[in-house]
Order: sequence, then structure tokens, then C-alpha cells
Amino acid sequence: MSATIMDGNALAREVRAEWKVRAERLTENGVQPGLAVVIVGDNPASSIYVRNKAKACGDTGIYSEIHAFPEKASQDEVIQRIQELNRNPRIHGILVQLPLPRHFESGKIIASIAVEKDADGFHLYNVGALVTGNTVFPPCTPYGVMKMLEKCGIPVEGKHAVVVGRSNIVGKPMAFMLLQHGATVTICTSKTLELAEHTKRADILVVAVGKPRMITADMVKPGATVIDVGINRLPDGKIAGDVDFEMVKEKAGHITPVPGGVGPMTITMLLCNTIEAAERAQTAQARV
Ligand code: NDP
Repeated sequence: MSATIMDGNALAREVRAEWKVRAERLTENGVQPGLAVVIVGDNPASSIYVRNKAKACGDTGIYSEIHAFPEKASQDEVIQRIQELNRNPRIHGILVQLPLPRHFESGKIIASIAVEKDADGFHLYNVGALVTGNTVFPPCTPYGVMKMLEKCGIPVEGKHAVVVGRSNIVGKPMAFMLLQHGATVTICTSKTLELAEHTKRADILVVAVGKPRMITADMVKPGATVIDVGINRLPDGKIAGDVDFEMVKEKAGHITPVPGGVGPMTITMLLCNTIEAAERAQTAQARV
């Protein structure tokens, strides 16, 4: 029997509708949630992502600003703008679109974002908070995966989760979030020997590598939940995930497609983090 498809577009619509109500309530009370997106240079993919984020904000009742800098902008100039945004009461979430140009130290730029406005959850404080189980803002992609598991009624506690990939933005936070929810977690990397021996033991398999269709059906346990984070552009221009969807869907219990799986959830969770930040700002204001 073919796997149940976890429809990221439908789930994202559902989550956005729930959070839109919260954004509207805030706005009625005089605090419209606001997101500032900082972009440096003219990477075409980044420009598309930023425009999509701004549009998604508008659709969800969030005010947004795009702060675009030319490729040759200085690091100090960008940090100065972030510090202004840190002080700006209209802005509750700040996101720096990555990657930054080579002459930038991403760590320094991210560190200049106020912790309580770090909607991407990449600030070192927020990374530490996540690892110690005191999450402030969960990073959007793994947060989206957790939300999909929850919405699809897939239990995590007591399950064996295998995460393939250990990047700071996907693999590592994903592994910690699954661990926090009671899964036994294995993390695989490019250095892992006998990858299939690990992936075959996964009840929940999350793949975030960036290699088209590298996870084949023989690497998957029957009935497993397979979450494909990968986004790869093929020579013919089509988009493919890291999982051989057509074959694996005949073996898995649940599977995410690419496109239309994790991608729409990632942007959605950015909106949720921004609304959450605005709710916290309002609560803090009420206490003063
Ligand atoms: P990175 O390139 O930063 O990390 C890739 C990871 O995969 C590394 O940890 C690497 O291991 C590991 N890896 C590489 N080859 C293998 C292999 N043969 N076996 C096992 N592990 C391997 O990528 P990201 O985490 O940033 O992104 C991963 C994918 O997810 C990309 O396709 C990206 O486009 C996509 N993505 C999708 C998002 C969405 O919203 N859906 C959001 C963010 C990313 P090592 O550390 O040892 O090199």
C-alpha cells in the first residue's frame, strides 16, 4: 500500500489560518506583528525567498519591511541597521537572509540581532536554549517538520529517529528537537559508514543533505515516516528532494513530497515565530 502523503501546502494553510487569528487579535489590541528581512547582495534565489516571505507576511496580517543592501555594503553598516531594528517597536522579528557575501562573518551579523527578535532562531543564545530544552525560537525548518509530525498524528516519543545531515540550520536543531520530544536519535553525516544500516532502523527518517534522490527504497524501513528536507534543482530545471519519492512512497507509511512538503512549512513557522515574538512583546509591555 502506498504511503500517506504529508501535504505541506495544506498543513501550512491550516497552521497559517490558526496563527492569522492571533495576529489579528494582536493588531486589534494595537500591536501588529512586524518582521524585518535583511538581505545583502543580489543572489537571485535569496531575492525570491525574501519576496515570498514578505508576501506570506501580508497574507497573515504581519507587517513586513525588506532592508536590502548592495553586495559591497560593509558589515558595520548592516550591523548598525540591525541595531536600529532591535530598538524599533514596530518590528518583532528580524531575519538575515543567508548566505551572506564572502566578506561577511555570518556569526557576527546574527549575534547583533536581539535575542527576543531572532525569528530564525540562529542566535547562539537561542541555539543554547534549544539544546538545553528551553527553546525561545525554534529554527523554522525543523520546527516545521515537528509541526507536520504533530498535525499528522505521528508519535515521536519512544521512536527511533534518524536525521541525515548535521547543518546548523537543519540537521542539528532537528536532532535536538526530536530528542526533546522523547525520540532516540541517530545523526548521520557524510562520514557515516554504512548509511543504509542506520536509515533502515528509522521509524522517523529526516533527510537534509542536498543530494537528489540519494535515499532509495532499500534504505527505508517498511511503514516508516520519511521527511525530505532537500531541495535540489535537476539539470532539466525540475526540483527534486533527497528521497527517491516514487519508489520510497511504496514502502513508507508517511512521506513528504518535494516540492510541497517541508518548504511551505518553513516559511509558515517564520510567521509563527514573528507572531509569538509580538505576543511576548505585548505581554512584557503590559507588565511595565
Ligand atoms: P548543508 O550542505 O549545510 O549540510 C548537508 C549535510 O549533509 C552535511 O551535514 C553533510 O555532512 C551531509 N551529507 C552530505 N553528503 C552526505 C552523505 N552522502 N551521507 C550522509 N550525509 C551527507 O545543507 P543544509 O542542511 O543547509 O540543507 C540540506 C538540504 O535541505 C539542501 O538541499 C537545502 O536546499 C535544503 N533545505 C531546505 C529547506 C526547506 O525549507 N525545505 C530549508 C533549508 C535547507 P558533513 O557535515 O559531514 O559534510
